Amino acid sequence: MLDIKNLHVELEDGAKPILKGLDLSVGAGQVHAIMGPNGSGKSTLSYVLAGRDGYKVTEGSAHLDDIDLLALEPEERAAAGVFLAFQYPVEIPGVGNMTFLRTALNAQRKARGEEEVSAADFLKLVRQKAQSLKIDADMLKRPINVGFSGGEKKRNEILQMAVLEPRMCILDETDSGLDVDAMRLVSEGVNALRDAGRAFLVITHYQRLLDHITPDVVHIMANGRIIRTGGPELARDVEANGYADILAEAQ
Ligand code: ADP
Ligand code: MG
Ligand code: MG
Repeated sequence: MLDIKNLHVELEDGAKPILKGLDLSVGAGQVHAIMGPNGSGKSTLSYVLAGRDGYKVTEGSAHLDDIDLLALEPEERAAAGVFLAFQYPVEIPGVGNMTFLRTALNAQRKARGEEEVSAADFLKLVRQKAQSLKIDADMLKRPINVGFSGGEKKRNEILQMAVLEPRMCILDETDSGLDVDAMRLVSEGVNALRDAGRAFLVITHYQRLLDHITPDVVHIMANGRIIRTGGPELARDVEANGYADILAEAQ
């Protein structure tokens, strides 16, 4: 489903190379986890896939099925089914959470040539999804992320994901700052979305998230590339022993 080949990315202004020949293939229905030391380029990878400004792709490709993602604008990528839950979710003062969600959903539908969802159908959809994430009606009405606790922001991201039903879900450190209960809710939200037609890229520092969201494949990223690929046991190995041995072997 997601096919990245020899991806080279540098900062647009400083020409600092960040991704240095990254290869990654994620099949439909799969969950791939990416771990790796700080500064490896994990967030950069997610930003480049989502189309955020500030990065320049100098070599390589990224396709979602037959779609050349790198040729698309960010909103076109979203319409194609790419979703990035940000590491630090932004506050949007003045824009109600519901309004934001409905606007995003209708923009996506429009781009696909589908009809807009009616106000009544949208309300029903959001209420049902919010309930399963224990998000209350009050939080749906508040400006997006303003005054949300860390856990509320993360649950809200999963709500966005549940409503938009993207094909390729990218979670960048969705677990950071979550207490045990919030992490369980977030994990359940992700697991409920696991589907043969959908794939996940889960970027995380900690094995504990992967206790709840069992990955099919675990990658270790360092210095702009994937240096080791394995199963869930690789994440447990990193948790127990750190990255030193893997980094040394990759030299
Ligand atoms: P990770 O998510 O694995 O911690 P990042 O993708 O955030 O890594 O960063 C990779 C490297 O690129 C780091 O050295 C970081 O400082 C640098 N970097 C990324 N984005 C920027 C930016 N916008 N400006 C300056 N340096 C950046
Ligand atoms: Mg970082
Ligand atoms: Mg990061």
